[in-house]
Parts: sequence; C-alpha cells; structure tokens
Amino acid sequence: MILSDLETGEKAVVERVHGHGSFRKRLIEMGFIQGKEVRVILNAPLKDPIEYEILGYKISLRREEARQIEVVTEAEAREALVSDEHLQALPGDLEEKERLDKALAHVAEERHRNIRVALVGNPNCGKTSLFNLASGSHEHVGNYSGVTVDAKEGHFKYKDYDITLVDLPGTYSLSAYSPEELYVRKNLLDSVPDVVINVVDASNLERNLYLTTQLIDMNLRVVMALNMYDELQHKGDKLDTHQLGWLLGMPVCPTVCRDGQGIPELLDTVIRIYEQSDPKLSRHIHINHGAEIEKSIRRVQPFIAHNEDLKARYSTRYLTIKYLEADKDVEALLAGMPNIQDISNARADEIQRIQSLLGTPPESAIVDAKYAFIQGALAETYEKYIEEHPRRTITDKLDAIVTNQWMAFPIFVLLLWFVFWATFTVGQYPMDWIEAGVAWLGDKLGGLMPDGWVRDLVVDGVIAGVGSVLVFLPNILILYFFISFMEDSGYMARAAFIVDKLMHKIGLHGKSFIPMVMGFGCNVPAIMATRSIESRKSRLITIAIIPFMSCAGRLPIFVLFAGAFFPAHPATALLGIYLLGIVMAILSALVIGRFVKDDDLPFVMELPPYRIPTGKAIWRHTWEKGRQYLEKMATTILIFSVAIWALGYFPRHPEQSKAYQQEHSYIGMVGKAIEPMNEPLGFNWKMDVGLLAGVGAKELVISTMGVTYAQEGTEYEEGDDTALQAALKATVPTAAALAFMVFVLLYFPCIATFVAIKNETGKWRWAILLCLYTILVAWLGAFAAYRLGLLIWP
Ligand code: GDP
Ligand code: MG
Repeated sequence: MILSDLETGEKAVVERVHGHGSFRKRLIEMGFIQGKEVRVILNAPLKDPIEYEILGYKISLRREEARQIEVVTEAEAREALVSDEHLQALPGDLEEKERLDKALAHVAEERHRNIRVALVGNPNCGKTSLFNLASGSHEHVGNYSGVTVDAKEGHFKYKDYDITLVDLPGTYSLSAYSPEELYVRKNLLDSVPDVVINVVDASNLERNLYLTTQLIDMNLRVVMALNMYDELQHKGDKLDTHQLGWLLGMPVCPTVCRDGQGIPELLDTVIRIYEQSDPKLSRHIHINHGAEIEKSIRRVQPFIAHNEDLKARYSTRYLTIKYLEADKDVEALLAGMPNIQDISNARADEIQRIQSLLGTPPESAIVDAKYAFIQGALAETYEKYIEEHPRRTITDKLDAIVTNQWMAFPIFVLLLWFVFWATFTVGQYPMDWIEAGVAWLGDKLGGLMPDGWVRDLVVDGVIAGVGSVLVFLPNILILYFFISFMEDSGYMARAAFIVDKLMHKIGLHGKSFIPMVMGFGCNVPAIMATRSIESRKSRLITIAIIPFMSCAGRLPIFVLFAGAFFPAHPATALLGIYLLGIVMAILSALVIGRFVKDDDLPFVMELPPYRIPTGKAIWRHTWEKGRQYLEKMATTILIFSVAIWALGYFPRHPEQSKAYQQEHSYIGMVGKAIEPMNEPLGFNWKMDVGLLAGVGAKELVISTMGVTYAQEGTEYEEGDDTALQAALKATVPTAAALAFMVFVLLYFPCIATFVAIKNETGKWRWAILLCLYTILVAWLGAFAAYRLGLLIWP
C-alpha cells in the first residue's frame, strides 16, 4: 500500500521510499525509514498536503510525496497474522496490540527485502547474459541488437533478499527517439526500480558511458556492471575502475557475464546501495555542461521546480536538461503545469541565447558536453584509450600533438608567450591614446574650473585616478580575448589537463590554472573565475595565491625600475620578477594547503572537441571580463584614489612646492612613521608613501612617487618617467630598488582584490588573513632581496 492511500487515523509501518536522490534523501531525513511507524492525522480526500505523525513529530507531506512511500497497513498485518508461518508461531499469550505491532514490523521487514532491480545498457552489452546468470533462466542470448524487445522479469533469492530483476531493452540513450528508449525511460522514472544496474561494455566505453551520463542526470541509485571486462584485459588496456566510479559518482563492478565472474560482488554492491549502508559508495554529481548551458539550466530550473509535485517524482535538473533539449515527452509533461508560460518563455530566451553564442541549439551543446565529460573521465582513468581509437577525428589528431608528452609543454609555453607578447606590445598603442586622452581631459577640465581644492579633486583625484586604471583596459581586453578564444576553442581544457598532474602536487587542480593565468591580467576577474573549481579546498588555495601573479597594474612599476636600475637586462629582470611571483605562489599553496580542510573531490576535466568559436561568444566573454574590470574601477578604485589623493592633499601648504606638500601631508606623515619599519629593507619614506598609495591600486605607486621625487631631479616634470628614473637612481641604492620590486610584487594586492576575495570566499576573515600574510611574505622577501643585493652591489 502507498502512504497517500491511508485514511485519517490509520497507522502503518514504512516499508521503503521511492523517488530520486535529493527528494528521497529529504524524506529519509524526516524519518521515513523502514520499520518506522507513521500515523495519519488528517487526510481529507481533496486536501493537499496530508498531515502525518512520525517519530513523535507532526509532518505534512504533499499527496505526490506520500505516493512515493510504501507502507504496511494494520489490515495487511492482520492478514499476515493468519497466513504467515513465522507469525503463526508467535506465543499465544501476547496481547492483541503487541501481536499486531510484531506483525507490522515483520511484514515491513519481509517486504523491504524485496528489491526491484532494473538492467539498463546499450544493445549487446550483455544484459541478457547477466539476467540469465543471476536469475537462472534461459532467455535467448544473441550477438545482435534488438533481441530483447520487451522487459523480462526474473526472480531469485540472493543472501536474505528476494531480487526482482528486470531486463530492459537495450538503448544507446534515453532521448525518447525510439519506442525502446521511451519504454526504458518510463520504466526508470515511473515504476522507479530500487536500484538500477547500468551494464556497460568495457570494450566500448566511450559510447556506452553516454547512457550513463543520462542516468546521472536522473539522480537514480545506480551500480555499474562493467561487463566484458575480459575483453578489456585481453586487449591489454588498463582502466582505473575505482577512480572511474568516483568520478561518475557510482560504484563500478567489473563483470564477465559469459562465465559469471564478478556477479556476486555486483549483487553485494546492489544491496549495499539499496540499504545505503555505505555513504562512500556513491555520491551525487552533476555533469558540467559548460558555463553557458549551466547558466541556462540555472535560469530555467527554478520555474520547473516551482511545481512541488514534479519535485517529488523527478529530478528537476533532469527535467530542465531534457526540456532544454526540446524533449517531446518532457514537453508534454510540463505542458500541464500552471506556470508553463513562464517555463517556456525562459526556455525560449535560453535557446536563443545559446544559439547565438554557441551557434548550435542547446540539444547538441548538451550532447557535446556529455561527450566532453566522458572524454575527460576516460583520459584520467583509461590507458591506451587514444591509441585504440579506430577512426581518428580532427580532435584526436590535434590532441595527439597538443597533449603529447614531449610537445605539450613547449606548445603551451609558446602560446602563453605569444599571448603576453600580443597583450603588451599591441596593447601599448591604445594605452598611449588613452593616456593622452586622459591628460587632455584633465587639462581641458582643469582650465575651465576655478583654482581650488574642487578643481584639484577633479583633475588630480578623479580623472587621474580613474585614468590610471582605464589605461589598462586595452591590455585586459586583449588578454581576455585570447583567453576566451583558448577556452571556447577547447584548448584551455587541454591546457588544464596538461598541468593537472603538476597542479596536484601543490594541492590544486588543473582548473586552477586558468584563473592563475588570468591573474597576470588583473587579479579581480581572476579571483571571480575560480568559481569553476568544484573543490572548496582547491578554490580557497587558488584564491589565496592569485595575488602573487603579477597583475598588469604592477607592470609599469617593474618596467620603470628595471629600466632605471638594470638598463642592460630589463627583460631578464622582468622575467625574474614574474617567476618569483610564481615560485611564491607555489610555496604559498603548499603552506596554505596544510591549513585548509581536505575535501579531496576529484572531478572530471571535460575534454570538449576542438571547434572554431563564434565571434559573438568570444566578444561576449571578453567584454564580460572587461566589464568586471571597469566595475572595479568605477567603484572601489575611484573611492580609493580620491581618498589617497586627499591624504596627500591635506593638510594644505598652498605656498609650498608639490613635493613639500606631499611630505607634510597625512600620507607623508604615515610614510615617515613607518619608515623605521622598512629601514631594514633599504626603503626611504618616499618609497613607503608610494607603497601606501599602492594599497588603493598598484597603478598609483608610480604617480605618487613621481610627486614626492619631483624636488630631486631639477628638470623633472610630471609624467616624465625618465626624469623620475634619474631621480631614483640618484637616491636609491640598487639593492633597495630590487627589494622594492620584490615588495611590490608580493604585498597586499589592492583594495579591489581584497573585496573580491571577501566576496568569493564569503568571509572577511579570509581576506584579512590573506592581507596580513602577503604583507609578511613581502617584507621577508624584500629583506632577503636587499641583503642579497647588498652582496652584489655594496
Ligand atoms: P544484450 O543485448 O545486452 O542483452 O546482450 P547479450 O546478453 O545478448 O550478449 C551479447 C553477446 O555478448 C553474447 O554473445 C554474449 O555471449 C556476449 N557476452 C556477454 N557478456 C560477456 C562478457 O563478459 N565477456 C564476453 N567476452 N562476452 C560477453
Ligand atoms: Mg538482451
């Protein structure tokens, strides 16, 4: 009997709970587990929800939810008292109520031991062989597809359980194109088996696993029978079944259904999954369908999940994916929902968005993503996979080169070098234009306004501050253009794959690599990009080390110092600084990794096929990043550059020179106050003031020092770098200059990054800790650089 059929006042004992993963989990958490007593408080025929009492609590369940729970009623228990031998043997002096309770518990226990298991798999993967071996019947076993036209049921006893095995027709997918597919789907979703055995042909994994990815979407309890395991071994291939199972979120049991190897282990696993005796055996994973499709899923799913009744019966993620695929069956199901208009509008928007971005309808993008997931999972677990591929596609050929053990790294480094070259060389032109434009605007506006602090605020605070950030926009856009191109073409996934093993050594994943590369442009979008990393631990560490990736804002400082102090080898000095940042990042990852709780979540690195990205998608992604950068400028940087300007502007000494003003302003006072602290590094107070200004944005370091140093070089003019270089050379020892570069590289990134860290980790604590950590590292690093430098340039 099902729970929803009980009438008010009736009592029953729970036998089992149907339904898919998350819904089922919730019911179980409420206390609906086998053997527990439940009583109906109020079940009026037209009333929804129904009120129940379980474990002494009152709970209301929707009718549809209650339909998923099977129970034993008192009437059924009474019948069993008469017919069941075990119960007939109860001692005669028991009270009536006690007898009934015993009967209820007994029947629930008996029935609970009936497990319904469905066999799902591609045609010819060995389902019928497995069915015959397990159930002892002799269905016709044929070596061609389509032998099984209808579902066959077999019953057998295994250990203490009565297992009903259903042999379903073989299908390649569950897309409801053919009657078989539709039939299998209905069987899985509507007459929900307790456990699904996904029979997979191990000698043809790529194609077989496609069906598996659809089962994952459905969020059912699945055990994989990795059949034809003998053939895989015969070919000499190696498969890490344990890792594969972990990546797919289901247990994987190798079997050979020709002679029965592995079948007892398979059935044991089925029972363990059914009883949920081992939470480590399976986990719920989501197949990552790529950023754009996932965005679509997130937009449409809430409308579907709005219908509580659907939530009880299906995984709404599954329905959403199917609906985006324009699945006729799911369309028909949703057509009856009261908010179908909202659902279909949301989908129409998303179909259009995906079509224009990816150039394909969601349907094929979803199929591609599933294959990318499979490729990634196999690349991590299956050896000889690529070599075994019979007909090589363009993707295979490219992969053979790009992920080749000798060529992968050189190609990768060469590409990165090209990207950085293009970013900074090509970017120089628009940078110069913007610089000139900002200067012109400052001049013009300054000329129009009367003298006074308002004019200075606008010209020196707002325009100069914002301008110093705007100048990097071309760099950022060019860098992200290349990054988007590499992402959308499929190369970035390979890059992540290539570096994955290396990254594992420092407690990170291949996916951490992309945000780290972005960090060379600007730390803020880089920290935002860590969202694609599933593992919390890897994500936190990645966020923590991104500030060591020298961002474009720090570059002008290095260029200026390298030009002044190492005129013979400026490029080497630059490279050295960048490398130092990377080394510090690696060391920091190792250190921080010790303090973050492990969650060791392996995940599949999808390997999508290569394709030429659409211009529109590239532009969107590039602009998205540019916009994030601009937003940072419009808010935080503006506020801080004005604040830093004010600190240097007040208190006023209008009669004095600019340099005098700077020295006797608030920022000059602070700089002088911290001078003793930075003395072991060889810094003077002017450099300290520069560093203080850099807290707002690294772009401000140079302009601030330009002002403080104005009095040294006589012919110094604002904005004239060579003059500033000369002034620096005259007053700063080389060792101190080196220490300064190291300090700038390592210390507190900037306010905007600080805010981004807080937002992405959700905790101020993390942002503050990281801030203190980077300052400490910077100080120690600069100290070491200074001491070493003194040995070379005494
Ligand atoms: P179904 O279409 O999924 O029901 O597959 P069948 O059970 O009809 O099996 C198809 C063919 O594969 C038959 O010739 C079986 O003998 C063979 N077969 C089944 N399991 C294995 C196995 O583990 N190893 C090998 N080598 N062959 C198997
Ligand atoms: Mg068959």
